[in-house]
Amino acid sequence: MQCPRAALFDLDDTLAESFRTPSPEVLDGLKKTLDLMPVAIMTGTGFQKIEERFLPVLAAHPRSDRLYIFPASSGQAYVQKNGVWEQVYDLALTEEERAHIKAVMTETVSALKELQDIPHYGEQIVDRGAQVAYTHVGVDAPTDVKASWDRDGSKRASLWSTLKNKLPEFEVLMGGVTTIDITRKGVNKSHGVKWLSEHLGIPIGEMLYVGDALYPGGNDAVVIPTGIETRSVSGPPETLQVIEEILAACSA
Ligand SMILES: [Mg+2]
Repeated sequence: MQCPRAALFDLDDTLAESFRTPSPEVLDGLKKTLDLMPVAIMTGTGFQKIEERFLPVLAAHPRSDRLYIFPASSGQAYVQKNGVWEQVYDLALTEEERAHIKAVMTETVSALKELQDIPHYGEQIVDRGAQVAYTHVGVDAPTDVKASWDRDGSKRASLWSTLKNKLPEFEVLMGGVTTIDITRKGVNKSHGVKWLSEHLGIPIGEMLYVGDALYPGGNDAVVIPTGIETRSVSGPPETLQVIEEILAACSA
């Protein structure tokens, strides 16, 4: 691997399991990466959840000034100034748009035969302002349920294509192992990649993006056309290996 000038990471199923906190090893790896270069976290998750779960650990780093958080599929961006997180931009959906998305989600899910009689754990629709996410097995589903409810991915693919057809005015993407993320059209992680490149004055091709959903329709795949280097990972253990590769390449 060539040493990248900035490292960008997806959160769910990349730095951490879906809706969970990154392991101490991964957080430690991110801190070591921050010693060397700007680090960005790009996720469908809302800022508040990231802050509650693990942000203080990274914010305490002496170079937290080069940590960038892009919640809501980079519909928003946050940086730290004088110890306080500041929102740099916000491309949130309106209340009306979110209500419409949620109504279509509910109607679509109850109409799809293959989605009936599957137990769910906790809420299924998560409204994050700039993004509405849907997870059929619920946000609190145990890891084995998330892995087994749709082994061949066909249930989620059918929900995804139906929602895409019913909501052509929005961006509809698959994220994580179980979720579908909906944002304003054109608001996806590629927006954050381009913004960061301009903001840092680093050519996109010299930055590295690490994610688990770089397959077609995946919420990470949208970064590929920007020209950023990408590394596909199967989950947090492999992400840890990639972080180690980055550290090795950049300290050589
Ligand atoms: Mg992911």
